[in-house]
Amino acid sequence: EIETAIKVVVVGNGAVGKSSMIQRYCKGVFTKDYKKTIGVDFLERQIEVNNEEVRLMLWDTAGQEEFDAITKAYYRGAQACVLAFSTVDRDSFEAIESWKKKVEDEVGEIGMVIVQNKIDLIDDAVVEPEEAEDLARRLQLRFYRTSVKDNLNVDEVFMYLAEKYLFQ
Ligand code: GDP
Ligand code: MG
Repeated sequence: EIETAIKVVVVGNGAVGKSSMIQRYCKGVFTKDYKKTIGVDFLERQIEVNNEEVRLMLWDTAGQEEFDAITKAYYRGAQACVLAFSTVDRDSFEAIESWKKKVEDEVGEIGMVIVQNKIDLIDDAVVEPEEAEDLARRLQLRFYRTSVKDNLNVDEVFMYLAEKYLFQ
């Protein structure tokens, strides 16, 4: 039996919830004081997509977002990408396009998705809904709003990327 394995990189500014998202998806937990994974490059989860077993390997930058040399090695061989920003961090939203470019400069065109995390903090939002939708339209990417804290829409993001990889 042929097993499909997909390397997924989760990128975005620090503190948007990347590590939390990977932990949530692969381990089913959310901790407020989550510490960086030490000595582990990725976590994985196996899902079924149209009767096919797919292994998703989710790579975390372990807080090294600012160091180009490290992140380049981390992007290598990526087949899908989550571009993440936070509902309560304007800079992280403004940075999405540059994260997209960074990844594409290394690996070319791969399946990507824009994720607005921390949607549970919507009352304190610093990004208008239309702004996020406009960005997604302009970059021609699917857009999800998630709360890793409340486990909202996280599974959907990775199912979408797996389906996109398999079927197009
Ligand atoms: P990273 O730097 O992008 O890996 O971000 P982390 O995963 O370390 O998360 C940064 C902080 O945001 C932590 O305190 C998390 O508990 C918190 N966080 C992550 N996701 C959510 C969310 O959906 N809602 C809220 N309210 N906090 C979150
Ligand atoms: Mg992190």
